[in-house]
Amino acid sequence: MSDTLIRSLDLIGPGDLVIYHGSITDLHGLWLAVPCPCQICRAMDVFGLPDIRFALVDPWGEQPGPHHVRRASITRSAACG
Ligand SMILES: [Zn+2]
Repeated sequence: MSDTLIRSLDLIGPGDLVIYHGSITDLHGLWLAVPCPCQICRAMDVFGLPDIRFALVDPWGEQPGPHHVRRASITRSAACG
């Protein structure tokens, strides 16, 4: 297994730097990932569904990021090593 593949399987924890590459191309780039705080995603979490969603926070606090981001839409940034 390559280093890159192992890295891509890493779980993303609250406050991890990630690269967003999902459907909203305007927002592609570097973000802090936190668990999506909305009621829908929290309810999913309570039910134990594996579809974990994230909210993305601007590391510099300058703009709101996307919510309900799928795990597949973000990659843990190599910069947080
Ligand atoms: Zn949500």
